[in-house]
Parts: sequence; structure tokens; C-alpha cells
Amino acid sequence: SFHKSKGQHILKNPLLIDTIIQKAGIKSTDAILEIGPGTGNLTKKLLEAGKSVVAVEIDPRMVLELQRRFQGSPLSSRLKGIGAFGITIEIPEVDDLLAHNNNLSQRTEARVIQGDVLKCDLPYFDICVANIPYQISSPLTFKLLFHRPLFRCAVIMFQREFAMRLVAQPGDTLYCRLSVNTQLMARVFHLLKVGRNNFRPPPKVDSSVVRIEPRKLIDSFPYKDWGGLIRICFNRKNKTLGSIFKQKSVLSLLEKNYKTLKALRLSQKESSGDTDMAVALSALRDTGEDLSMEIDDDDYDDEDMGVEEHDARGSEFKNKVLGVLKKGDFEDKRSSKLTQADFMHLLSLFNEAGIHFA
Ligand code: SAM
Repeated sequence: SFHKSKGQHILKNPLLIDTIIQKAGIKSTDAILEIGPGTGNLTKKLLEAGKSVVAVEIDPRMVLELQRRFQGSPLSSRLKGIGAFGITIEIPEVDDLLAHNNNLSQRTEARVIQGDVLKCDLPYFDICVANIPYQISSPLTFKLLFHRPLFRCAVIMFQREFAMRLVAQPGDTLYCRLSVNTQLMARVFHLLKVGRNNFRPPPKVDSSVVRIEPRKLIDSFPYKDWGGLIRICFNRKNKTLGSIFKQKSVLSLLEKNYKTLKALRLSQKESSGDTDMAVALSALRDTGEDLSMEIDDDDYDDEDMGVEEHDARGSEFKNKVLGVLKKGDFEDKRSSKLTQADFMHLLSLFNEAGIHFA
């Protein structure tokens, strides 16, 4: 019996598994990370294609199932031992491999770690291939994007809508904060549409396989500031930036940052950049809002909601903010249509005016 809460939907179509393997572009020298191997349908093909597989599986019953499966298969001639974290399976003998697949001259190794992928330290890997439980999509994506050293790519099955959000471009209905932040940190490609009937039991939604290639981080890029700006801009992605930045809550947040920074500069005579990249990057993290919770703001009209009058000091700062928008001709623009380059331009204009988002 499968655990619904653990998102256990097993891939049952061997042709589909072959297609995923082929599209993943695995090299025979690759160290592969698999998340949620389940009963091992994908694991088996990964073992044939790469040099080693480390699989992280939360469900001890599945770990046992895997152990049983690979014990008997031609791919796993030998069980090496049981470690503190779970099972280490070393497979297969060189001769078996040569008989099985002429391309492989090296020993393939598999290791299964029993645990929650969100909580464990990931090992070194060249490529991640996984059919994941959809409830961990967002935190897992960001865990992978933050992972160092850089890996070549991750090829992952997601719920269709999440996948389309990852790859969405300006003007697409699903273009959102997740799209912008992911695409800042990685190149993302939609590889394959997968219908629900390829799984057992079939999930309620269709799926898609996506390829994520993480980018190198740029030391001088203000990731933290960027994260704050994008959060504000996509709070109501179909409202104009002019009306977003007139909101009292937004203005008072920015004014507070502005004053803090000014005071800091006066006392230090120099500004301190982001020294800790991890802290900066965490501003981009999609903090667990799941898909269904994202506000669909198509129905909101463009009237200002809850904007209150400011006192004289407040309106001075407000004019400063609106001046920045005017300078870049952003007042009437909507986040739903802005590109990464547009947001970078906007951020640089704000920063030039001494306005920061984090
Ligand atoms: N890879 C298998 C396949 O394609 O047939 C199974 C995929 S199934 C969608 C997801 C698997 O991830 C299940 O085996 C489930 O137990 C496991 N899982 C769920 N949550 C997990 C977590 N937080 N960490 C690691 N594995 C998890």
C-alpha cells in the first residue's frame, strides 16, 4: 500500500522512464543523486546509465523494498553492508556490467540514505534525477539551487502547474515570484509532459519533467535586495508598480530601511555589502507558500486599496520613491510583464537613490 502523504506515485511506464533517462543526458562518469527512489524503477535505469547513484528515501519500507530488489537483480551482485544511515549497496561486478552494458567499464555504486531529503546534507553529485513527492517541490528546488559545489543539472518531475511556473516568461499567466527568482539562479527548460496515467496510483494532476541548470553566483550581485524587491513587486503582480509603491505598508518598510542604512553609513563612513551569500540568497527562497495559496489577483482592479494620507515627512519619501519609478518609466508597468533585465534596471535605480529592500 502506498502512502498518499508521502506522495508515493510510482512510475509504471518503462518507455517513459527510458525517455527521462535519455533526456537527462547522463554520462557514464556521472555521480547521480536520486530523491525518493520508491520501489526503484528509475533507480535501476540510473544505475545502468551512470557511475554511481545515491538515493535519499524517507520511507523505511521503501528502503527495504529497494534492498530486496537490488539484491536479486543482475545489477547488484553484492550487498556491501548496512551503514548508520541505511543501506549501502555496491553493484555490480565489472564482468556483470560488461555483459550487461558495453558502454560501462567502471563499477557502478548505489547507496540508499534513509531520511528526509529536506533535512539531510546532500552528497557530491553531477546530476540529480528524480520523481519527487510534489509537496516538497518548492523547498527542494531552492535546496538544490543553493547546493554547492555546482552540479551540472537536475532533471525533475514536478506537478505540471509548478513546472510551468518555473519556466514561465513575462506575460504568461503563471509568471510569478518563483519564475523570476528561479530564473535568476538557474536556466530552466521544460522537457516533457507526463499524463497522470503513467503513475500508480495516478495522482490528481498532470506532471512535467523540467531541467534545471544552476548558474554561478555573482559575488557583487545584491541577491538580498533583489529578493526584497521581487517580493514587493509580485505581491500584486497585475497592479501597476505606481500603485504598489504608493501603499503605506510598502513605503514605511522602505523608509525604515532607508533611515537605518543612512544611520549606519554615518556611523561607519562606509557601507557594508552582503558578506554572507547564504543569508542573501535566502531572501529569494519561496518560503513554503504552496501553489494554491498564491493570490490570483486578476480580479483586482487598479484602484489604490487602503492607501492612507501621509504626513509631510512621509510624502517626501513617497515622492522620492515615485521619482525613481518615473525616471525608469515604471509607474504604469505591471510585474506580470516585466523581464529579469527590467527588474535589474529598477533595482539599480532604487539603489542609486539609496533605497534598499533588505
Ligand atoms: N521514484 C519512484 C518512481 O518514480 O516510481 C517513486 C516516486 S514517488 C512520486 C516519491 C517517493 O519519494 C516516495 O517513495 C516517497 O516515499 C519518497 N519521499 C517522500 N517524501 C520524501 C522526503 N522528504 N525525502 C525523501 N524521500 C521522500
